Amino acid sequence: MNDKAGGDPTKRLSADSVRAELSQWIVEHWNPEMPLAEWRELLADSGWACPTWPICGRSLPAELGRVVTDELKRAVVPGPPEGVGMTLVAPVLLEHGSDELKQRFIRPTVTGQITWCQLFSEPAAGSDLAGLQARATLDDDGWLLTGQKVWSTGAATADFGLLLARTDWDVPKHQGITAFVLPMRQPSVVVRPLRQMNGHSSFNEVFFDEARVPAGHVIGERGGGWQVARTTLAHERRLAAFPAPPSQASGRAWREAIAERTAAAEPHRWYPQRAGRPDLVIAQAQARGVAANPVVRQEIARLIELAWSARWMANRAATARAGQSGPEGSLAKLASSRIAQQAARVHGMIAGAQGLLTGPGSVLGGTIAEILVSVPAISIAGGTDEIQRNIIAERILGLPREPDVSAGVPFREVRAG
Ligand SMILES: Cc1cc2nc3c(=O)[nH]c(=O)nc-3n(C[C@H](O)[C@H](O)[C@H](O)COP(=O)(O)OP(=O)(O)OC[C@H]3O[C@@H](n4cnc5c(N)ncnc54)[C@H](O)[C@@H]3O)c2cc1C
Repeated sequence: MNDKAGGDPTKRLSADSVRAELSQWIVEHWNPEMPLAEWRELLADSGWACPTWPICGRSLPAELGRVVTDELKRAVVPGPPEGVGMTLVAPVLLEHGSDELKQRFIRPTVTGQITWCQLFSEPAAGSDLAGLQARATLDDDGWLLTGQKVWSTGAATADFGLLLARTDWDVPKHQGITAFVLPMRQPSVVVRPLRQMNGHSSFNEVFFDEARVPAGHVIGERGGGWQVARTTLAHERRLAAFPAPPSQASGRAWREAIAERTAAAEPHRWYPQRAGRPDLVIAQAQARGVAANPVVRQEIARLIELAWSARWMANRAATARAGQSGPEGSLAKLASSRIAQQAARVHGMIAGAQGLLTGPGSVLGGTIAEILVSVPAISIAGGTDEIQRNIIAERILGLPREPDVSAGVPFREVRAG
């Protein structure tokens, strides 16, 4: 643990002093030919790895944290790993985890020694996540977990899972859920990759048959899993795309960091196509000689109108809420879904039946075909369009809440799924 000057209110740090201290430290410690793991240990020890955190960090305020991130980028040195461990699990452990869990898991996550997946969705608990039915029961040696999860990105390679399971069936559904750290590498955890209709295999089904979870691996309170889920989902909305490595990156540490990042980003390789690739539309219309067709032009104009108004709406919402996430996120999510659908429609009009082809000679090397079969995912992942409309209706338009037949009823008596 490192709690340097950021934790001491009497010592005032400026952006300049942080920048100067860090750049001096980099000069003294960075060697591009060192192993990545060794560099990450140094970053964690010094507190530059996660400047705003109390563990592997310096408890700096957010604005100085950004100074550190910028300076690491400017110096072209690798930082902590990208992905679920750093963006979801470690922040959740910092907020809800016991001291033992924090000490055990945060540092190896920051150094990239262990990897994570998120085990929330189930076949009958997607929109209604609180209706989940994976079951954890306590015995003398800890918890036994039985059930199934689905859509779990990275589960095939993860060392640990951030998991929600039902531990009490006699209280209303939100109150009987507990969050756990599940060790993935045990025989009673079986991971089966799913094959998507776009040919990629980004997600998995995960089956548990009396899988073991140590007693100390409960995150937060027993029965307090819904609070942990809400924290996780709030961080999930901020998940960013994997950044490209800097063009000047070279040496052993960077080679290892790029290999790690490429593997972690693999499940997301088709996400640009999922968003409909509106950026390709005009060039495609010109290339295929339909840019003067009035019907195509009208549909392109409709797409641009949607994209621009969504951008302006997002800017207005960001200014209004000054960094707080609110129901406006649902407007943005719904807008991105509408834009992707319209973009796919226009690509279909432009390419015609040839847009369905993949392989040699296909339009844009099969990218149009990938768009057409990937776009439906954006209306489902992260909350379906219908769920976003419910949120907009209730929380923005002030319409009556959807009736909830399970409110106040013990989960055992609720017809789940
Ligand atoms: C590409 C992709 C990536 C995903 N990634 C993840 C992930 O990383 N982690 C994860 O945990 N999950 C992930 N999911 C799962 C995703 O969160 C769920 O698929 C989604 O929440 C919908 O749940 P469901 O599939 O069970 O459908 P259901 O909830 O069964 O919904 C079926 C249909 O009923 C409608 N419906 C349901 N409830 C209502 C209601 N109250 N009012 C009106 N209509 C309703 C839905 O809109 C939908 O059309 C992913 C899904 C996809 C497609």
